[in-house]
Amino acid sequence: MRFSFDITDDLHFEEGKFLMIAGPCAVEDLDQIISTARYMKKLGIPVLRGGAFKPRTSPDSFQGLGQNGLELLRQAKEETGLAIVTELLDPSDLNELIAVSDIIQIGSRNSQNFPMLRKVGKTGKPVLFKRGFGNTIDEFLNAAKYITREGNNKVILVERGIRTFEPSTRFTLDISAVPVIQERIDLPVIVDPSHPAGIARYVAPLSRAAVAVGSDGLMIEVHPDPPRAKSDSQQQLDFNQFSALKEEVDSLLPVCGRRYV
Ligand code: PEP
Ligand code: MN
Repeated sequence: MRFSFDITDDLHFEEGKFLMIAGPCAVEDLDQIISTARYMKKLGIPVLRGGAFKPRTSPDSFQGLGQNGLELLRQAKEETGLAIVTELLDPSDLNELIAVSDIIQIGSRNSQNFPMLRKVGKTGKPVLFKRGFGNTIDEFLNAAKYITREGNNKVILVERGIRTFEPSTRFTLDISAVPVIQERIDLPVIVDPSHPAGIARYVAPLSRAAVAVGSDGLMIEVHPDPPRAKSDSQQQLDFNQFSALKEEVDSLLPVCGRRYV
C-alpha cells in the first residue's frame, strides 16, 4: 500500500480512498465560515479549508483575519465536527495554529522554506504540502523529504499548478505530476484545481481530469457568495456549483476504483 495514516481519530486516509477538502480561500467572518462548514457537513465533505493567514502577492491585499480567523475556524469545527486545514505562513504562529487545525497547510510560496518544513515535520501533525509553482517534481519531492525525515509520514502532496508561458489560466495544472509522483514516492497526491484555473468555470473540468488521472483527492475553493469574496473571488465556486461538481465526482469515483475517505 502506497500510504495509510490517520488524519484525526475519526478520519483514516489510505491508498484507494479519495479525500475531498473544500472551503473558502480565506476565513472572512463567522457567518461565512459556519454556513460553509454546515454545507460541507451536509454533503459529507470531511475536511474544511480556510486561510486565516493569507500569502497575498501584494501587501495591499486582504491578509486574512490572523488569530481571529483561527478562532472562527475553531467555532466551525466545534459546531460541525469537521476536520480543519489552514495555512501556516509564519512559523511563530505554529502553536496557535495546531491548537485548532488538524492539518498544517504549507503553501506554494513556502514550499522550499526548509527550516519551516523541518519544524512542521517535528510536530507529527498531518501536513498538506503544496507544490511551489516554480518547482520541478524532483524539487517538490526533495522538499517533502524535509518533513518526512523528521519522522512525519503524514504528508499529503498537492499539485496546484505551475508557471508556464500560457496566460489563459492562472497557472498550468501539471496533471502528469499525479502519476509521476505516485510512482516515485509513497505519499498521497491530491489536486487543487482552483488555483491553476483562476476562473470558476474551469474548476469542474480540471477536477474531472484529476479524478480520471488517479488523484488521491481534491481541494476546492468554495464560498457562499464568490463575487463578494475578499480573495480569489473569480475562482471560488458557490454552493450550487460545488454540489453539482460533487455529484460528478460521485459518479466518476467508482469507475476510477476509489471510494471517499
Ligand atoms: C491556498 O490554497 O490557500 C493557497 C494560497 O494556495 P497556493 O499556496 O497553492 O497558492
Ligand atoms: Mn485562494
